Amino acid sequence: MNARSRVGALGKKGNPNMETITFNVQGSAAEPYKVTFKKNDSNFSAYCTCPAGENGMYCKHRFRILSGETTGIVGGNGSEVASVVAWLSGTDVEKAIREVELTERQLEDAKKAAALAKKKLAAAFRD
Ligand SMILES: [Zn+2]
Repeated sequence: MNARSRVGALGKKGNPNMETITFNVQGSAAEPYKVTFKKNDSNFSAYCTCPAGENGMYCKHRFRILSGETTGIVGGNGSEVASVVAWLSGTDVEKAIREVELTERQLEDAKKAAALAKKKLAAAFRD
C-alpha cells in the first residue's frame, strides 16, 4: 500500500501541488501514531497524533523521520522516509531541525566534558 497521495485529486480545497505522506509509528500507546507530512510547493508541514503533537508541541516521532530514521515505522512504507527528507530542503523546518541537531550534539559534548571533569575531580580528591 502506498500512503502517498495527491490531496487535490480527492477534491479537498483542490490544490494539485499538495503531496501528503503518512507513516504509522508505534509509540508508547497501543495504537500507532499517525505522522503526516505535507508538501505544497515550498511550504512544508508535519503533523503527529501523539499527545505532544496534538498539543502543537515538539515530538520525537516527526523529528526522527525527518532525521532519516525508520525506527518504529509500521505499515511497510519506511522507504518513503527518503522522500519526506528530500521535501525538507530549503524549508523553515529544515533550518529548525538543524538547530535542534546542533544543540543536541553540543549537549552530548557538554555531558562528556562534565563526566571527564568529574573523573578529574575524583582523581584530585585521591591525591
Ligand atoms: Zn509524535
